[in-house]
Amino acid sequence: MGMSLRKRLILSAFSLSFTLSLVTVLVFVVMAVRDLRSEVDRTYRDIVRAFTYSQKLLGEGVPEVRFVLEDCKVRERKGYMVLREEGVLVGKVEDCVFYGSPLRRAIDFTAQVNHLSWMVVYDKDVIMRLSEGKEGFMDRFVKDKVIERDHIVEGFYDPRILPEIGRITGYSLINRYRTLVVEYPLIIEGSIPVGRVVFVKDFSEKLREILITPAFMVLYSILVVVVLSSVLLLLFNRIVRDILMLRDMTMKFKELDFSETDRLANMLRRAKARDELYYLKRAVLTMAQELETFINRLQDEKNRFEELAYKDPLTDLDNRRSFIEKAQAMLEYARRYNEPISVLMIDIDNFKKVNDTYGHDVGDRLLKALADVIRRSTRSSDVAARYGGEEFVVLLPKTDEKGAELVANRIREEFKKVVLDVDGERISSTVSIGVATLRGETSIDDLIKNADIALYDAKRKGKDRTVIFKDTVEGQGQG
Ligand code: GH3
Ligand code: MG
Ligand code: MG
Repeated sequence: MGMSLRKRLILSAFSLSFTLSLVTVLVFVVMAVRDLRSEVDRTYRDIVRAFTYSQKLLGEGVPEVRFVLEDCKVRERKGYMVLREEGVLVGKVEDCVFYGSPLRRAIDFTAQVNHLSWMVVYDKDVIMRLSEGKEGFMDRFVKDKVIERDHIVEGFYDPRILPEIGRITGYSLINRYRTLVVEYPLIIEGSIPVGRVVFVKDFSEKLREILITPAFMVLYSILVVVVLSSVLLLLFNRIVRDILMLRDMTMKFKELDFSETDRLANMLRRAKARDELYYLKRAVLTMAQELETFINRLQDEKNRFEELAYKDPLTDLDNRRSFIEKAQAMLEYARRYNEPISVLMIDIDNFKKVNDTYGHDVGDRLLKALADVIRRSTRSSDVAARYGGEEFVVLLPKTDEKGAELVANRIREEFKKVVLDVDGERISSTVSIGVATLRGETSIDDLIKNADIALYDAKRKGKDRTVIFKDTVEGQGQG
């Protein structure tokens, strides 16, 4: 079997919301990364600008330190740096004379303007090499500084940052993007790299600012997606429920069970939305109602045809077939419980003459009159039937010979009283009746045959009488 509609809908709603959330997260992550990068770039440029500017000012301003260079290879130069016991100096050279100020000023200015902390990391080997031959230089240089393996550190010393310095060129975000480190190579006279100036900026506040909006947006979009997919799911679920209900109903309709039509009708009455589903439901309801009416009509027709098959249309008594069916069952019953049961065979006397004289219509009227008499004279538990053209049989359960004779005579007397008015002429007739009672006979046919024999005897004896079948009579009848 394929996947159910409900499963498919849940799966698509889920994958849709998942994809949407993922896309949103990706978009905002990309945006946040871009923001972060441009913010870092900006900060870096600010620091470089401030540092370069302040160095230039120091070089052009009033010099605090002035001395003749020992090794005068450079006669004229702006932005010249030299190393002294108290640190690096920056300034200019004119005719082998250096005019400058401590680089520390430029560092302090840059740090202050950009809210940074700073350190100067000197290369210990280089410093040692430079101090060769200068008595006590190294001790005085190291004073107020920290020695950490190969480095001599001045300023803000953070042991966490120091190991990172060697890996960085230019700038980098470390400590999970919360610290910005900007390094600046420190090159003194004769192009000797003595170390670097390092600016350290706490970037956690900026990071928070950059991340807060995307984080909010991601949360918001996930919320929207969840709400949206829930609503969709709810809607889909309603549709699926309706479809399943319709399926169950149509299955019931197929089995001709229309008990659900009222429920559907109620649902339609309460329906607010007139959508496609509503019209589908209405179509199903209409179909079911029409089917029900149609089936009821068929049932009526069936009943009518069944009646036709078992009833005689002229007299409305049972016909021969119906009589045999009922009589067989009743005979079985009588035999089992050893009860008496009798049959009357009734035949109108000289009926041919009535037909010949007054016509078939009058004959039919007489037949109907006899049927009425039989109906009136018997019990509802008796079975009366039109057996042939103008012959009638009556089955009398729980009735012995005597009782049967009584019923037969009552019918005879009653029929005698019937008077038909034919164009002013008054017509009446008589019947002959043969009676047979169950005496171990095997079939209903035998019983009827015996009644017929008795009837024949009644005709022979002059008509308008009742004759009871006796074994002796049988002998006479056959003879
Ligand atoms: P008997 O006294 O010996 O019975 O003489 P009968 O003239 O009645 O003779 P029989 O019983 O043999 O008559 C049968 C006649 O009944 C034959 C037929 O014309 C007539 N008949 C049979 N069915 C119908 C019917 O449905 N309507 C009418 N009007 N006559 C019928
Ligand atoms: Mg007859
Ligand atoms: Mg007759």
